[in-house]
Amino acid sequence: MSVSIHTIPLGIDRVHIIRGEKTIIVDGGMAGQAKKFAKAIEKLSIKPEDIKLIVLTHGHWDHVGSAKEIKDLTGARIALHQEEKDWLEKSLTPLPPAVTVWGKIMFKIMKIFESSLRFPAAKVDIVLGNNELSLTEYGIPGKIIYTPGHTKGSVSVLLETGEAFVGDLAMSGPPLRLSPGLPIFADDMKKVKESLKLLIDAGAKTIYPAHGKSFSVDIIRKAL
Ligand SMILES: [Zn+2]
Ligand SMILES: [Zn+2]
Repeated sequence: MSVSIHTIPLGIDRVHIIRGEKTIIVDGGMAGQAKKFAKAIEKLSIKPEDIKLIVLTHGHWDHVGSAKEIKDLTGARIALHQEEKDWLEKSLTPLPPAVTVWGKIMFKIMKIFESSLRFPAAKVDIVLGNNELSLTEYGIPGKIIYTPGHTKGSVSVLLETGEAFVGDLAMSGPPLRLSPGLPIFADDMKKVKESLKLLIDAGAKTIYPAHGKSFSVDIIRKAL
């Protein structure tokens, strides 16, 4: 079965569209981006109702901001890990601890704008746990894997062909990083590395981060 991948920038984030027999998306962009999303899928000849699932890699404001509006537009179900269900359902904006100097500067900037980071709350339809969840019911050869580290409830989508959609488990572009590598924010850097190893062992070949372009997993191998 062939699967196609499309990427739509929504604010500082990228939303990835994975089309198998059915279509799913990974992450939901910043708030107020639903119109841009609707236009982008129209260009790709994807009907809103074709999208059946919104996998949120974690609950940070920049990944879930437009989830409610995209759900309203498409009728797709939202999947998010149980650790961060409340963040989306109660519109909470916890800020992640910085692990680099630039991360600390970005953290201070975000702190100033914290009140403007709020987003429309949405109900989580599929509460993810720590077990893998197959995507076969969507006609996509792949799975959702629990990959904590950036946050306690971070997950990734891994396709059988080696594409890994990791949210913020790795970063590769401005304003967060200038080149591909480990995240500049993390709850637990040790867990970040363990999760990346897990993905590599499970067959990840290309990393699709939410911030920046995709890159070879060899870069991560060297960074670990
Ligand atoms: Zn994040
Ligand atoms: Zn992010």
